[in-house]
Amino acid sequence: MARILISPSKYIQGAGEMKKLGTYAQAYGKKALILISKGGYKRIGAELEESFKQSECSAEFDYFNGECSKNEINRLIEIMKEKECDLVIGIGGGKIFDTAKAVAHYQKTPVLICPTIASTDAPCSALSVIYTDEGVFEEYLFLPANPNVVLMDTDIITKSPVRLTVAGMGDALATYFEARACKRSGATSCAGGKTTGAAMALAKLCFDTLMEEGIKAKIALEAGACTEAVEKVIEANTLLSGIGFESAGLAGAHAIHNGMTVLEECHHMYHGEKVAFGTITQLVLENVPQEELEEVIDFCIEVGLPVTWKELGAEHITDEQIMEVAKAACAENDTLHNMPFEVTPETVAAALKAADAYGRYYLGEE
Ligand SMILES: [Zn+2]
Repeated sequence: MARILISPSKYIQGAGEMKKLGTYAQAYGKKALILISKGGYKRIGAELEESFKQSECSAEFDYFNGECSKNEINRLIEIMKEKECDLVIGIGGGKIFDTAKAVAHYQKTPVLICPTIASTDAPCSALSVIYTDEGVFEEYLFLPANPNVVLMDTDIITKSPVRLTVAGMGDALATYFEARACKRSGATSCAGGKTTGAAMALAKLCFDTLMEEGIKAKIALEAGACTEAVEKVIEANTLLSGIGFESAGLAGAHAIHNGMTVLEECHHMYHGEKVAFGTITQLVLENVPQEELEEVIDFCIEVGLPVTWKELGAEHITDEQIMEVAKAACAENDTLHNMPFEVTPETVAAALKAADAYGRYYLGEE
């Protein structure tokens, strides 16, 4: 099988870059449909309007209705046709990018993605997650291309809630370990081929960046300061983790996350917070050396990622519920089967229990 790497065509990251969006956009179209939330427009609408005044590309703003559903996608396609837009720009969070990517795909136009948070590895990917209008998962839409541009304005991200960027570190924490598992098993990545050395190197850099910069970044963010450590963590959460997961592969951590979605108790937790616990569980399944396990758990505790059921909101979880999570994580088409050894609901349930116990131990609870 071939080795395949995919990535966005252009990645831009820096303080104040959103003010240049109009200039960047003119290389891709004459009239952009800009998808943004009402709150987002209130915060940065004026600077966006200003940046398009100096651009050869004009802007047509539309408020996102809150769900990346087929109805919302079709509504926006109609607006694209009616207003004769030849470019889509999504500004905000995950569901806005997924919708913008899908609309651009169906309209065969370029797409620019401008996250205002750094909470997941989704912005750079060639993937949209489609939900029903009620917010229930419907399907993955695999796109033939990654976004033309991903633009991260680090000033804007620094002003977003710190917990979101920490959750992004939880998502990024999984990248290297899932990549390593896929390399060992020879699994096919989301890019449709085997892992390249380049994707592995980016996944490792992602992990090393979190270990070196994560805590420094969190403290700086709490002080509202956009420092070099913050810049490095935003890159790790978005670009390194994005290319890493997509081109090197997903394995245990994300499948265990998916299993955890069956627990009502954890619904208030962010994706990356659950992925962090999924990462610890994957390391238990792999029976990694104690130093590696300790390094990861200590990191989670220090930045404030959950390491126990209690911290995940499921203090009174029963053995039956743990088994439900384990069974869901082992779903036939999920990525737990990319691990380099056989995984069963029984071994996953045991690893989940042990992960929680290690968390309590390192927290000094018992
Ligand atoms: Zn993720």
